[in-house]
Amino acid sequence: MEPCDRSGGASLDNPSDLAQLYNIVEIFHSVQGEGFHSGIPHVFVRFGVCNLRCEWCDTNFDEYTTMPAIDVLAEVMKHKCSRIIFTGGEPMLNDLWPLARLLKARGYTLSVETNGTIAIPDGLLDWICVSPKDQMYPKVAIKQREGDELKCVYVGQPLAMYDDLRKGFEHHYLQPLYDDEATVQDNGASFALTEAVVKDNPSWRLSLQTHKWMGVD
Ligand code: SF4
Repeated sequence: MEPCDRSGGASLDNPSDLAQLYNIVEIFHSVQGEGFHSGIPHVFVRFGVCNLRCEWCDTNFDEYTTMPAIDVLAEVMKHKCSRIIFTGGEPMLNDLWPLARLLKARGYTLSVETNGTIAIPDGLLDWICVSPKDQMYPKVAIKQREGDELKCVYVGQPLAMYDDLRKGFEHHYLQPLYDDEATVQDNGASFALTEAVVKDNPSWRLSLQTHKWMGVD
C-alpha cells in the first residue's frame, strides 16, 4: 500500500467543505472484485440516489443517511487503505469537489464508478470507470465519454453500440450479469455467454464480479 498522509492538509480544510452534505448508503473496506483494479483493496463510499433504475441493480440506493463530509472523512479514515472508490447509486449526482479536496489533501487516490450520464469535471478524480446502461436506456445520453475504464454489463446487446464510446477509454471490459436471485446454473449460463463473446471479440476483456462469489460486498 502506498504511503498516505492522513493528517496532512487538516489545518487547511475549508469549513464549507467539511460541512458539505452527502447521501451515503454505506462506507466499507473491501477488495475491488471487478474490472481493472480487481484484487486491490479499496474503501468504497456508496452514495444514495440514482437517475436510472436498471432492472438488475443490486444496490438499495433509496436507503441512505445524510452525512456531512467531515463524518464521511472520519469513516474513511478508520480503514488502513489509501484508495477510495465512489460508487452508488450515481455518485456524480453529488458535488464531489468538497469531499475530493478533503481526501486528496490526505493523499488518497480517488476512483469513481458511474453510469456516465453526468459529465465529470477535469481533475476531480484519478480514475474514471464508466458503466453505461444504454442496453436498457438507449435514449439516455452518455455525457462522460472519456475515462480510464469502460465496463459494460453484457446481456446479449450488440457490441457495435460501443464502437464510438470505447474510443475515449483505455480499458474495455464486458461483465456477465450476476443475479443474486438466480440459480448457479443460470448465472453460469450468463458467464459462459460473456466468455464466448470475449473469445470472439478479444479487444474486450472479461470482468467477473469475484466479490459476489466470495459472498462479500
Ligand atoms: S445505473 Fe447503476 S446504481 Fe443506477 S440503477 Fe443502474 S445499476 Fe443501479
